[in-house]
Amino acid sequence: MARVLSGVQPSGDLHLGNYLGAFRNWVADQHEFDAFFCVVDLHALTLDYDPALLAQKTLETAESLLAVGLDPSVCTLFVQSHVPEHPRLTWLLECTATYGELRRMTQFKEKGGEQQETVRAGLLTYPVLMAADILLYVADRVPVGDDQRQHLELTRDVAARFNHRFGDTFVVPQAEVPKVAARVMDLQEPTRKMSKSVSSPLGTVLVLDPPEEIDRKVRKAVTDTETEVRYDPVHKPGVSNLLELLAASTGGDPAELASHYPNYGTLKADVAEALAELLRPARERLVELHAQRDYVESVLAEGAAKARAVAGPTLDRAMRAAGLHAPPGGFSA
Ligand code: ATP
Ligand code: MG
Repeated sequence: MARVLSGVQPSGDLHLGNYLGAFRNWVADQHEFDAFFCVVDLHALTLDYDPALLAQKTLETAESLLAVGLDPSVCTLFVQSHVPEHPRLTWLLECTATYGELRRMTQFKEKGGEQQETVRAGLLTYPVLMAADILLYVADRVPVGDDQRQHLELTRDVAARFNHRFGDTFVVPQAEVPKVAARVMDLQEPTRKMSKSVSSPLGTVLVLDPPEEIDRKVRKAVTDTETEVRYDPVHKPGVSNLLELLAASTGGDPAELASHYPNYGTLKADVAEALAELLRPARERLVELHAQRDYVESVLAEGAAKARAVAGPTLDRAMRAAGLHAPPGGFSA
C-alpha cells in the first residue's frame, strides 16, 4: 500500500488555508493509504516562539487534527520531537543538500526578511528537516498546500542525489496539491497567503471560529473598487480568493460560480455560510475532545511507537549507506 506523510507546525492557531490546503486531503488519504501525520514541533523553533506555550500548542494542534477528522484507528498521528530519527537523518541530508539551494528557497527569503545575517541557521536548514520527515517514512505521496511545492522539489532532489551517491535508499516522493484553494489568501491582504505565524486577526479564518466570527471576517474581506464579481486572481485577488473558498466548500468551479453573483455582498453572504457549514463538525468535535486529554496523549504515544518502527530501520539503512560504522544492534536500537 502506498504511503502518505504530511505535517503541520504548532506555530499558531490552525486556519482555513491549513484545512483546505492540507487537512482535508489528509482525512481522505487516511482511508486509502498507509498514512502518517505529524505535529512538526521542531520546525516551530525556527522563528521567535514562546517556550512556555510550545508544549501546550503541540497538544492543541494534535487535538485539532483529531477534530478535523484524523482517525487514529486508520492513520498514525505523532509528534516529530518524539521520534529522534528525524534530527538524526537531517544531518545526513544536510551533508547532501547545498547552501546554494537552501538560500534560494522562497520561504527562507520571506520569513528571514531583511535580516539574513541574524536569522537562525535553523530557518535556512528547515527544508532539510522537512525532507527527513518525509524520507524516513519512505513516503510516496505528500499532501500539502501550494506554498510547500518548492520544499517538496528540494526533498525530491536531495533523495535522488543521496540515492545516486550511496545507492537506492529513499523513495522519491510526489507532492499532492489540491486543485482549488491550494493557496488560500489572507482576507485583509489578498496577495499574501493566510499564515499561522503572521498576525492578521481579521484576515485569518480559524478552523475553530464560530459562525458569527466567520461571517464578520468574510464581510470585512478586502475586495477592490469595482463591483463586478469575476474570477481573475491577478487583477482581482480578493474576489477570486472568495470564489475559490466558495468553490472549495461547495464543489463548484470558481469562474463559473462568479456568474451567479450580481455583487460582492451576495457573494460574501454565501461564502460565510458555506465556510461556517464546512468547519462546523470540527468545532463540535473539539468540544468533546477537550474533555479527553488522556486520550489525546495516548494517541500520540501509540503514534510515536508506530512511527519509530518505520523511521528506525530507514535511518539505519541510510547511515550504513553513507558509510558510517554501525554499533552492535544497528543505528536505531
Ligand atoms: P507558518 O506561518 O508557521 O509557516 P502555516 O500556516 O504556513 O504556518 P504550516 O504548518 O507551515 O502552516 O503548514 C501546514 C500545511 O498547511 C502545509 O501543507 C501547508 O502547505 C498548508 N498551508 C499553509 N498555509 C496555507 C494556505 N494559505 N493555503 C493553503 N494551504 C496552506
Ligand atoms: Mg508554513
